[in-house]
Order: sequence, then C-alpha cells, then structure tokens
Amino acid sequence: MWPLDGISTLGIPGFLLLWAASYAVYLALYFGPGSLLLWVNQYFPERQIPAISGRERKARRTAGTEIRQSLKSLIGTSFCLAAGVYAQTTGWTQTPLALSPINVLWTFVAALILHDAWFYFGHRLMHTKPLYRWHKTHHLSVTPTVWNNDSFSVPDALSVQSFFILLPFVLPIPTAALIALRLFDQTKGMIGHSGYEHFAGRLARWPFPLVATVHHDQHHQRFTYNFANQFTWWDRLFGTLDPSYDEQVRILSNPKEKARAID
Ligand SMILES: [Zn+2]
Ligand SMILES: [Zn+2]
Repeated sequence: MWPLDGISTLGIPGFLLLWAASYAVYLALYFGPGSLLLWVNQYFPERQIPAISGRERKARRTAGTEIRQSLKSLIGTSFCLAAGVYAQTTGWTQTPLALSPINVLWTFVAALILHDAWFYFGHRLMHTKPLYRWHKTHHLSVTPTVWNNDSFSVPDALSVQSFFILLPFVLPIPTAALIALRLFDQTKGMIGHSGYEHFAGRLARWPFPLVATVHHDQHHQRFTYNFANQFTWWDRLFGTLDPSYDEQVRILSNPKEKARAID
C-alpha cells in the first residue's frame, strides 16, 4: 500500500521508521480525541455513567499517572501495529487483497469478529491469578477516564496488541483495513473509558450484540463481568455479562429516566 511500498527494502531502519511513525500517530490519537472527549462531555453532565451504589464518580489515579503509564505502553502497542504492517510489506504474510471497497468491508468485519474473540479469551486469561499482576495496572482506575484507555503494563499491552501482528498471517486483509481497524479500536477504546454514555440504544442491548460505553465501564467497576470488546455475544454465551447491563443501557438511553433511577 502506498506510501508503505518499499519500506521492507530498507530493512531494520525501515521497520524502526514505521514504529516511530506508528507511535507518533498513537500519541495524536491519545491526546487529540482524549482532550476532545473531556471538552465535549463537560457539556453533557446528565450523560455521566453513575458509579455503582450511587457513590461519587472519582478517579483513583491522577491523569498524570495514567498518561505517564500510557506513554510507556503505547511503545508496545505501536510496535505490534508496525510489526504487522511490516510483515505484510515483506511478503511474509498472506498476500493482502487489492484495495477495493468490498475487500476492505468484508475483511474489516471478519477482523472485527476475530479481534473480539481474541480480546475476550485473552482478557479472561489476564484475570486469572497467575496473570492478573500484569493486568492490574489497568484496573487501578475503578471509574475510568479517557486517560485510562492505554494505561497498561507493557506485557499486558503486548499480549492484547499482538493480534495485529498475527492477523495478516491468517487473513489477507488490505494494509489500509488493518490500520483502519486499529485506529477504530483505539478511538472506540477512548470513548469506552470516558465515563460518559452517548451510545446507549436499542442496538446495544438484547437481542442485539453491539456494546454501549457502560459495558466496559461496568468491567472497571465490578472486575468480574464484561470481558469482551466489540460485541456482547461471548459474554452472554459464557455468563459473564453484567446482570444489570441490558437494563442500564435502557436507562442510560433515556437521561430523564436515569435521573429518576439515581434519585
Ligand atoms: Zn480487565
Ligand atoms: Zn479498560
């Protein structure tokens, strides 16, 4: 994919260039949408997701602590995307399909479904006793903010994001679609940690499989529910969906009803 054609001919310097560019894009996507979401959400106080038991929604970690941790973990996150793209440009992976709307669409959807499965089962593993010490960093915020989205330990970030290295080996996804999927997931993650609900609606509750912001917010508040990322079907199938999730989505889709529920 232009402008990446020929990057593999540069060898290791080519990969380092790709890694640095990827890190720069991640920084822009972290601070840009993060600041924008904070600015927008101050005008929608009625959309703030209530803390469980009606307690005050208060971040346990300062923004500075979350940001410093994110600057470290994004080095690992950007490595994985750069490695996946670099592997494609060298021809080590399946040959990416031609960049056409239909190819982008079906590979994007297939990759989204695969990514959700990877995330669900990997995330459940990270919550087991031997591995939780690597995931704990991300859970130090019980009521997350946008700055919590990338606040992972580096091993945790590498384990989740290695999906983007492996995917081109199993799916002939065009490079543009691979990058688009990661950027979509990154932006969606920022929204998912914002603590404000703008996406509660019919499609985000039973019988539909999409997730609203409250899905991952509940994961931070309760720890033992809602392990998926894009869809609720794995959580429903394995009984790990928060029992109050569908009802919360219904309430949050109606700010007036939400106000009554809190009272
Ligand atoms: Zn978790
Ligand atoms: Zn989280």
